[in-house]
Amino acid sequence: MAEPHERAARREGERLAELGRRRGFFFPSYEVYGGVAGLYTYGPHGAALKRHVEAAWRDRFTVKEDNFEIEGPTITPKAVLDASGHTDGFDDMLVTCPSCTASIRADHLIEDHTDVEDAEALPPAKAGTLITEHELACPSCGTPLADEPVESFNLMFETAIGPGDGDPGYLRPETAQSIFVEFPRLAEYARSSLPFGVTQIGTGYRNEISPRKGLIRVREFTMAELETFVDPDRNDPPLDRVADVSLRLYPIDAQRDDGTAYREESVADATDAGIIGDPWIGYYLGVARRWYDRIGVDGDRLRFRQHLPDERSHYASDCWDAEAEIDGDWIEIAGFAHRGCYDLSHHAEASGEEFTVFRPYDEPIERERATVSPDMATLGPEFGTDAPSIAAALEELAETEPGAFADETVLVSVDGARFEVPVDATGFTRETVTETGEHVMPDVIEPSFGIGRTVYTLLVHALETDVVDGEERTFLALDPSIAPTTVAIFPLMDRDGLGEQARDLAASLRSTGLEVDYDDAGNIGRRYRRQDEIGTPYCVTVDYDTLEDDTVTVRDRDTTAQERVAADELPSVIKALLAGDRSIGADG
Ligand code: AMP
Repeated sequence: MAEPHERAARREGERLAELGRRRGFFFPSYEVYGGVAGLYTYGPHGAALKRHVEAAWRDRFTVKEDNFEIEGPTITPKAVLDASGHTDGFDDMLVTCPSCTASIRADHLIEDHTDVEDAEALPPAKAGTLITEHELACPSCGTPLADEPVESFNLMFETAIGPGDGDPGYLRPETAQSIFVEFPRLAEYARSSLPFGVTQIGTGYRNEISPRKGLIRVREFTMAELETFVDPDRNDPPLDRVADVSLRLYPIDAQRDDGTAYREESVADATDAGIIGDPWIGYYLGVARRWYDRIGVDGDRLRFRQHLPDERSHYASDCWDAEAEIDGDWIEIAGFAHRGCYDLSHHAEASGEEFTVFRPYDEPIERERATVSPDMATLGPEFGTDAPSIAAALEELAETEPGAFADETVLVSVDGARFEVPVDATGFTRETVTETGEHVMPDVIEPSFGIGRTVYTLLVHALETDVVDGEERTFLALDPSIAPTTVAIFPLMDRDGLGEQARDLAASLRSTGLEVDYDDAGNIGRRYRRQDEIGTPYCVTVDYDTLEDDTVTVRDRDTTAQERVAADELPSVIKALLAGDRSIGADG
């Protein structure tokens, strides 16, 4: 594989921005008012492409994995994001140019101009020192940034819920928290049986310091996340389903060695050898690899990179990113994290609710249990205001150290003070109870996909040029099932009944569920070019022969080969083409 820096096509992003605007894939929003950085509108073809990617994700990660999908609100009360750690820690490092006031992401500046990798993990003060030491300057105006303060900037958009000052809230920075907070109810729907997974496709908002590169770093984007709740004591994903899927892995040691020594391993080998630390992560890397193949990500421009220890969130025990190569850079398009029980335990603690499931034992267990029932009529007069705390301490002691009640008196500590209590006044008893199971808090395995970045990757990886009839042609070799439009129908001209025939044909194809474009503008050559640039896999022309023999010409986007087929067979021909059971060009 050519390494990214060897690739000639450094201008894919620019070409795509131009194509995106011209052909209605995506363009900057609010341009009539001057535009807002980091906000994009998907045009008609982009919105269709995005919808197909989301449908393919849903089919793979919700339906085929037998998970539930939910749809939570994007407005989130502060308490939720306090508990999840976002209000305190969802920060990027900001340095402001003293001259032109540009806002610059300090870690990106350092990574772009020094050998330091993973600057995101640095404390802001250290980032400031590096900017000074390396004499880094403002990328916009060239003013030196030495000794400028580097601040933590929280990426969440703040809002007020309700009139007046309202209650503090935020637009959600990820969809995950709206799944975690509903865990008690979702576990009921799953009949408390682990593992189970909950998915959500929805908008996330991040007030990025410097949005850039088209759809890659924006301030509002669609995420598709799957939270899999697994039994922490039973690590048993269905690995056999993906055991032989081959992964291009970029583990920690390879990154430290220097750069690009990938390991091509099957999922089974990588998890057996411990290269991927957690089998559930291995399972999802395998599922994701197959899914990326299916939707048209170029396998030679895809790798799975393990997070360096500094880069990992403090709660994540193993974390990998799917990265796609775009214009010589490796862009994170999905993250796969083992989040442990971090989120559920924090929401349990902050809300006081139960975030566990009941796991039955194979056989009921008989257990001796010690309990107390302190006699407050004795403890009150004896210990005064300390009596309630002493009663609570006795309860805990009975559970943890029942032997302490063996003598006539028992010693308990409350806030460092020790009290001697007559055992008779504690109501201490031992009883045998039958336990049928226990409460466990699940671990969470999270694959989290950026839909916009996936769409962008598909467009970049599909962007091709060749020469047809002596002229250079640009076309998008999108997977036919993902392309915005599946079939374009052209009448040779809108005359002599050709237009009606073509419109009827388009309507009949639409009635079979296909997405069909009718196009009669300009000469046929121009219409082909237009559809090629949109990525329409099949074009059908209705011409004068159609009026004679009821046949039409079908043309394949990638080969430009053509074939005449009977008009009434067109639906089944298209179906066979989409299924890969047929190709165009057998007779022509
Ligand atoms: P994270 O929660 O940061 O791991 O993000 C999950 C996924 O969302 C990433 O893998 C990206 O694909 C996507 N993503 C994160 N930030 C942005 C952004 N500013 N613009 C577009 N996509 C993003």
